[in-house]
Amino acid sequence: MTIATANLKKVTKKVPVRGMMDNVMEQFNSAAGQINLHPNIRKILSITNNEIIVNFPVKMDNGDVEIFQGYRVQHNNALGPYKGGLRYHPTVDIDAARALAMWMTWKTSLAGLPYGGGKGGIKIDPSKYSLSELERITRRFTFALADNIGPEHDIPAPDVNTSSQTMAWIADTYMSTRPPAERTANQHVVTGKPDGSGGLEGRDRATGYGVYLSIKFWADKNETSLKDKTFIVQGFGNVGYWVAHFLEKDGAKLVGVQDAFGSIHNPKGITVEDLFKYIKINDGSIVDFPNSNAVDKNIFFTLDCDICIPAALGNQITKDNAAKIKATLIAEGANGPTNVEGEKILLERGITIIPDILCNSGGVVGSYFEWLQNRNGEIWQLDEVMAKLDKKMKESFNKVYDYALNEGVDLRTAAFCIAIQRIEKAYIQRGIFP
Ligand code: NAD
Repeated sequence: MTIATANLKKVTKKVPVRGMMDNVMEQFNSAAGQINLHPNIRKILSITNNEIIVNFPVKMDNGDVEIFQGYRVQHNNALGPYKGGLRYHPTVDIDAARALAMWMTWKTSLAGLPYGGGKGGIKIDPSKYSLSELERITRRFTFALADNIGPEHDIPAPDVNTSSQTMAWIADTYMSTRPPAERTANQHVVTGKPDGSGGLEGRDRATGYGVYLSIKFWADKNETSLKDKTFIVQGFGNVGYWVAHFLEKDGAKLVGVQDAFGSIHNPKGITVEDLFKYIKINDGSIVDFPNSNAVDKNIFFTLDCDICIPAALGNQITKDNAAKIKATLIAEGANGPTNVEGEKILLERGITIIPDILCNSGGVVGSYFEWLQNRNGEIWQLDEVMAKLDKKMKESFNKVYDYALNEGVDLRTAAFCIAIQRIEKAYIQRGIFP
């Protein structure tokens, strides 16, 4: 989703994110118990390293000044610089940023990257601001964060309602505030930049492609094919669109979509590219897409399908809808879309969940490639990027799948155990200063 499109969006609905922190802590504690995590390391990983809250003024188009609140939470950097997205959404607050930062620590660790975890954003409904206001908000936020971010310290990336355009503004602002001789050496302060400005070819599709690959690897393990499998997607932004694109290419059929504005359904199939073209001329919304029926938002997850892909916000699959979900596979494109109670019900029903920290890790792997490319002054080709992504996703998927089989645990517990063990090892090797 480009900022220009985000700018045209109608007012975004408010979705509660309360409880995301409870969720991530329960997941962490359960895995920590499973691996008998050292109590000292458990203490360290249970809290965030740094929490930055900035209040900053921005001049609006009408000449008034508005004050915005921005966040950056740095959870852990035992394995490398903090890494994670920036989200522009009314539900952003310190609690949401903490939970999302923690998930990033596990995600980067599981993917075997030299990164820690961070997350941030601004509590804002971007549809209420013009493009030039969004640019000034982003630049002033970057200036307020100052040296709390940096190419070897904390590297933001796009997330909900932020795009490659947002990243280009951040990179330009950050570089402009460095001494002249250091400016170009700081291009990798953010990833997810446009490919003309230090971005990686393919970063746009990396997360969705990774979600698709996870589904494909799962199908391979289960000796089934994706041909004619039906799927529903919540969120038709960057992640939702690209995963639907790749699944359709592999013969699967999109039968339901939900976004911030409505839910649509067609059991005979919704053509992904047609829907993508449609939202461009419909203020970024899927509502009233031809050849589809509107469905109540509360029954969306209960639509008939084989695969369900939540790719919007957290806490969407809960005890309220988990019992009625028809899909046999949930592939978590979003971060934290299934809460602990919802997950318990799904697992009892024998439904497989490919957990967020594995399923959507293609994004951070793509970001890592971009960071390396900038750092080494290289430019990689699309086919090279996709092949490397494929290899990395396969390694992670197999590690998690085998661990789950060997230990008799679900895929999320397996993913958390592997991620936490890698960080525990680093702490044990290095000890605690002083
Ligand atoms: P995006 O802004 O491009 O798209 C978000 C989509 O979600 C839009 O279609 C929007 O209409 C929809 N949405 C918003 N509120 C909704 C609601 N209440 N109900 C239903 N739909 C709603 O964002 P994105 O980059 O695609 O991110 C989606 C999710 O994937 C987030 O949870 C994000 O953290 C996660 N994620 C993104 C990346 C990435 O590289 N972009 C990487 C990893 C994880």
